[in-house]
Amino acid sequence: MEHVDVVVIGGGQSGLAAAHALREQGLAPVILEVSEQPAGSWPRYYDSLTLFSPAARSSLPGLPFGGDPDRYPHRDEVVAYLLRYAERLDADVRTGTRVQEVSMSDGAFSLTLETGDRMTARGVVAASGTFGRPHRPALPGLDDFTGTVLHTAEYRRPEPLAGQRVVVVGAGNSATQIAAELAAHARVTLAARHPVRFARQRPLGRDLHWWLQRTGLDTLPVGRFLRTPPTQLVIDDGRYRAAVAAGAPDLRPVFSAIDGTKATWTDGATEEIDTIVLATGYRPDLGYLRPLGALDADGHPRHREGLSTTHPGLAYVGLEWQRSLSSNTLRGVGRDAARVVRRLIAHLGAR
Ligand SMILES: Cc1cc2nc3c(=O)[nH]c(=O)nc-3n(C[C@H](O)[C@H](O)[C@H](O)COP(=O)(O)OP(=O)(O)OC[C@H]3O[C@@H](n4cnc5c(N)ncnc54)[C@H](O)[C@@H]3O)c2cc1C
Repeated sequence: MEHVDVVVIGGGQSGLAAAHALREQGLAPVILEVSEQPAGSWPRYYDSLTLFSPAARSSLPGLPFGGDPDRYPHRDEVVAYLLRYAERLDADVRTGTRVQEVSMSDGAFSLTLETGDRMTARGVVAASGTFGRPHRPALPGLDDFTGTVLHTAEYRRPEPLAGQRVVVVGAGNSATQIAAELAAHARVTLAARHPVRFARQRPLGRDLHWWLQRTGLDTLPVGRFLRTPPTQLVIDDGRYRAAVAAGAPDLRPVFSAIDGTKATWTDGATEEIDTIVLATGYRPDLGYLRPLGALDADGHPRHREGLSTTHPGLAYVGLEWQRSLSSNTLRGVGRDAARVVRRLIAHLGAR
């Protein structure tokens, strides 16, 4: 059986940032990534996606994003950037490799791969993101809906829904962006469970992220004090607020009941709906850690700022609000990774 020092599970931005931090500390991590390329979930995000942060504030440690620093890069540029990053990393990246289960055996972590192969490791960094676990909340009548239900994880482009009556459920960036682009092709309602709150992309002529970094809000270590993440602000250059004001999409509270394909709105009106798009977020995709007892009943990791509180040789990178607002972003994950890796190595060295 193969024995390695530290295994990183997931070859997206979080796994790559963790591997970079481990290399900086002189270790030789092995990255296990189920897909065929180390670009995380970015290739599977919807086609029109552009970053909400400019290129200058969207890079991982050691490799600038490149090009015009003020532009907001497209999804495909992020994919290309991450592939470039992985190539330069000088780490053992094994694609097409799914980790099925992690357990403890004789004081070391024992990893079972989908192939049935096993390996052991002194340390594990879980960096498997959230995209594999879309959150589908219990909405009134949703289980009785006989039309099409899509989660944003399955949504790529508006054309297949052209001409339909569509309800997008959500109040964050993805919900608003998808509802607005669909509204050019279909009749669309943005059904929000919370108020939609817009933040200007460039207040006083500077990108919002410049202000977040300048004020320290981006890295304020408040993550561990938050019971639930605050509702997301919709970052807007003006077009989403204008679209909602023009009624395309129209904005209303979530339906109160559904019968077949007929939705009842909170004002009592009813109408036929073709498709409901759930833009209701994601949860940590860490099922392989369940046998270890490292997760709570909802599948969330038990940790403190990324270091497991159940298994000190286990660390997390890329959790939402792991430490701060920027923890699960391109601009912030490198800082968290470096910090958690230093603490992980201190533990491994002390054993
Ligand atoms: C629609 C959308 C837009 C976003 N826009 C921005 C933005 O503009 N700017 C920004 O900074 N952030 C943005 N984010 C947030 C964040 O940066 C991304 O979600 C990013 O992809 C998270 O990176 P990650 O490496 O943590 O997870 P992922 O990118 O999901 O990578 C995790 C990897 O782990 C692999 N994996 C999972 N389970 C296993 C397993 N058992 N074994 C082996 N491999 C496994 C997966 O295949 C995947 O490649 C956005 C997120 C979404 C969903």
